[in-house]
Amino acid sequence: MSNSQAFRIPRIGFGWDSHEFKPGIPLKVGGVVLPHHSGLAGHSDGDVLLHALTDALLGAIAAGDIGTYFPPTDPKWKGADSAMFVREALRLVDEAGYVVGNIDSTLILAAPKIAPHATAIQQKVADLLGIEPSRVGIKAKTPEGMGTDNAAIAHVAVLLAEISWP
Ligand code: MG
Repeated sequence: MSNSQAFRIPRIGFGWDSHEFKPGIPLKVGGVVLPHHSGLAGHSDGDVLLHALTDALLGAIAAGDIGTYFPPTDPKWKGADSAMFVREALRLVDEAGYVVGNIDSTLILAAPKIAPHATAIQQKVADLLGIEPSRVGIKAKTPEGMGTDNAAIAHVAVLLAEISWP
């Protein structure tokens, strides 16, 4: 009997992403538009948190990464709402027989301050995942000494539980 047959083993996933700030475009983080003079450049809407979340979900089921399904070379994803990427990753997670237990995240950016918006981001991400906000960790730090003040970085860890049938 293999190890995975003997135990119902949860699966961990990790995702990371970064995007550069560009003046005059909307800033979207976790599906929430934040008031700021610059947004995140990218082929889609540049939502760094949702991209890292998508990679974490895909990584947990060893199903490649966001570029596998949504190549930036495809004009179809230009300006796309990144929630779509999360929904597709969730569909694959469901197909693999798993549900999201909880996620944790850290944003690293010089500005704007995330704290005043953390609750809104937490709620939006929870809604997207179909889980309670208490299962969504949103943390933020400034990039001290890293020289990345013109970028936003996101780290996301996810824990998946196996769907149990009665
Ligand atoms: Mg990205």
